[in-house]
Amino acid sequence: MKPAPFDHARPANLADAIALLDAQAGARVLAGGQSLGPMLNLRLAQPSLLVQVNHLSELAGAAADAETVTIGASVTHASIADGLVPDIGGGVLARVAENIAYRAVRNRGTIGGSLCHADPAADWVTVLSALDAAVLLQGAAGSRSIPAHDFIQGAFRTALLPGEMVVAVRVPRLSADAHWAYEKACRKPGDFAHAMSAVLLDGTRRRAVIGALGGRPLLLEDDAVTNDGAIRALRDVSALDQVHRHMQLAVFRRALAKAQA
Ligand SMILES: Cc1cc2nc3c(=O)[nH]c(=O)nc-3n(C[C@H](O)[C@H](O)[C@H](O)COP(=O)(O)OP(=O)(O)OC[C@H]3O[C@@H](n4cnc5c(N)ncnc54)[C@H](O)[C@@H]3O)c2cc1C
Repeated sequence: MKPAPFDHARPANLADAIALLDAQAGARVLAGGQSLGPMLNLRLAQPSLLVQVNHLSELAGAAADAETVTIGASVTHASIADGLVPDIGGGVLARVAENIAYRAVRNRGTIGGSLCHADPAADWVTVLSALDAAVLLQGAAGSRSIPAHDFIQGAFRTALLPGEMVVAVRVPRLSADAHWAYEKACRKPGDFAHAMSAVLLDGTRRRAVIGALGGRPLLLEDDAVTNDGAIRALRDVSALDQVHRHMQLAVFRRALAKAQA
């Protein structure tokens, strides 16, 4: 199948991109096209206008201060895997990025596009929630910032308002004695995961996120970051069958054990 007809715009700057999105209800952002491309071909998405954004300097690059690293929405998985983004500690971001899909996908796919697509099995959806990252948004009405965990509202559903864009992701740095683990189960390397868990033990900050659940990732905090906490939380996810529940628990246990080692 081929896409339904659409117009294409390549705005000169972020303000023009936002004005285009604001002016046309059927307009949609095009970043790396790795998820939107197939959706267009299958006619699951039929925008009237595609607003190309991955050339915009306002969405490129990364900046670091003492507490955070801010990554532009159009930074590709490949740039992060190649260490072109400042490290938050322990090479965490690079290790996650290098295990996303295949090099060809990583060369074009962006961190912002991944979050906005909100596939429950996407790596950044789970990892940025566990790292307590903030998503920076901009629209015609102004800018705002929300926690990554609140940004993802369900399978392929986000907190983006009409005409709004993700401009960056701000990730807190890990302390020197932080312990971190990220584990996933895939049928073969490069495939989307069937089960995934990220665990962060950083001083008094304890967070774990179980992803690839078919909906919003599950967030465990503080005393709930235990095997029993995960069992209790997964009991509430009614959509899981026995095999999937078992796989999720096995992956969570592996991640927790690694973080505690
Ligand atoms: C074969 C294959 C395997 C893959 N495997 C994995 C995997 O293992 N793990 C994984 O995490 N991902 C995987 N992906 C997805 C990949 O990571 C994509 O890069 C990502 O999902 C979308 O990023 P993109 O830049 O291509 O966004 P696009 O496809 O351009 O856009 C995706 C959606 O986000 C919106 N959007 C994009 N940028 C913005 C923005 N700045 N503001 C507002 N809306 C925006 C678009 O309108 C669209 O709705 C895979 C993809 C393919 C094709």
